[in-house]
Formats: sequence, C-alpha cells, structure tokens
Amino acid sequence: MHPVIAVDIGGTNLRVTLVESDRIMGEVYRSETPTGPGPEAVTDAIIREIHHICEKNRIKNLPAIGISAAGPLSRKEGALIKPPNLPFLCLPLVKPLQQAFHTRVELINDCQAGVLGEVYAGAAKGCDHVVYITISTGIGGGIYLDGRLLSGRGGNAGEIGHFRVDTRYQQPCSCKCIGHWEGYCSGRGIPAFFVSWCRYHEILLPDPPATAEEIFARARCNDPVATGFVRELGVLNATGISQVIVAYDPAIIVLDGAVIQHNQDLLLPPIHEMTDRYLTLPALAVSPLAGLAPLLGAGVAALHPEILQ
Ligand SMILES: [Zn+2]
Repeated sequence: MHPVIAVDIGGTNLRVTLVESDRIMGEVYRSETPTGPGPEAVTDAIIREIHHICEKNRIKNLPAIGISAAGPLSRKEGALIKPPNLPFLCLPLVKPLQQAFHTRVELINDCQAGVLGEVYAGAAKGCDHVVYITISTGIGGGIYLDGRLLSGRGGNAGEIGHFRVDTRYQQPCSCKCIGHWEGYCSGRGIPAFFVSWCRYHEILLPDPPATAEEIFARARCNDPVATGFVRELGVLNATGISQVIVAYDPAIIVLDGAVIQHNQDLLLPPIHEMTDRYLTLPALAVSPLAGLAPLLGAGVAALHPEILQ
C-alpha cells in the first residue's frame, strides 16, 4: 500500500508525518497546535502540513489519513468534543479533511493509537494482550486484548487515569472527581499532590512550591521529604497498575509519557515491588518509540482500518 499521512494533535504540539509499512518515513513535522480564533485554525494548519508533505514527496493520490488526538472524541461525528487541552466545544476533523483531500480519514483516541504503535512496531510487537499507559500531563491507557483494539461505545475505552487509587488525601482530578490516579501521579497532578501530601503529614511546604522536576531531583539527592513523597507516588502508581492488571489481564504493559520516560529510575522499582502480591505481574516495558507511538499508531489505523471496526 502507498504511504498514508499520520497526524497527532496534542494540547501543545501538532505532529504530521508519512507512515508506510507500519514505519514512520522521513521527517516528522512539528508545529504548535493553534488555539484559535476558531476550530478551523487547527484543521487549516493540518491541511497546510499535509499539502507540504505531499508536494515534497510527490504524492498525488493519498489513500488515507489517520488522526490521533486526546479524547473525548465522537467517532460518529468525526470530532473532538470539549477537548480538555484546547479551547473549543467541538473540533470537527474528519469532514474537513475528507473535503480537502477526497480520501478516507480515521480518527482515533491518542492512547489507543499508542497501543497500536507498540503492537505494530514497538515494545509489544506481535503480542495479543497489551496495555499501553502514558503518564505525562495526564494519564491515559490504550487496550489491545485477544488481538483486538478495545474501542468502546464512543471510541473512549481505557480512560484508566480516572481509576480511583486513593481515599486518604482527597486530591481532585482534572475531571473534578476526587481520588483519581491522574490527580496524583500525572505531570499536572504531582505538584498539587505534593502540597496536599505535605499538609496531611504536617510537613513545612517549600517556598516557592516545588515543581515535579524539582521533587524528582531532590529525591535523587536523598532529600527525606522528596524521597517519602516519591515513595507515596510509587504506592499509588502500583495501585493503578494493579487495577489495570485486574481489569485487562495483559501479557505486557508498555509505559510511556514524559513523567515515566524521565524518571524511570525512581518510578519503575516501586511498581515492581508494590503491585498487589496476588497478581501475576505481566512484562513491563518502557516505550522504545521516543514519544512517537500515538503518531505511528495513527498511521497504523489509516493503513489497517479493519482494526477500528
Ligand atoms: Zn478523573
């Protein structure tokens, strides 16, 4: 099959590339994701990048475009609905791109794209039972079981960041609920959770408040407060991972996202040590795809649309 276009829409960055034979071909074009004036700004930016790539690679007939984006999304409408990181109530994607290129357009949740990237070309290549977990600004999951992508009613299955992992610290999540994994262990959650944790244990707060990077750096210097806090993060990550194993029984869990990628030394050992003892721990791997699993997975979805059925 001819190469397809893969697009990954993040809250900060927009990435576009060519994917052929389940591999990224050539350059990945990165730009800032436009935030206005209207949602057309995003589709116009994507259309410009695709025209540029097609001209450069002398592509006349584009067989398909795959788009990965953070949910919630509506596959039926081909749109993102109230995306948490972009200021639009609705961001239509499939129709504007179909009209611009007269081709098939597949829209997929970014973590579901991530698991496809890992299954076709990453740490879980050829495996039939895979959970992909990204711990970055938020926490999300992509589930591939019995050789099939778990998609769900609206294409949003695997929102594991909203698993409840705690009842003690009453930490709010980005969804406003209390006790969810994302509210504690994501890049956005860690600094706020550090404040709650210090208050709960009656520890004097640092001034100015610590960022996630500072907390991890202090833990590496054996600072007792930061070490204690990182251990608590480990307990909560292990609780989340235990729930993932109970729910999905994967053969491998692939971890991705900036928080994990930059802090493997501190975050991986507690997962091994503290995951519930009665569970058989599956293989644990960190994504080898350098943050490109969702982009590659968008291409895989365009190349193999039967996966999304
Ligand atoms: Zn939540």
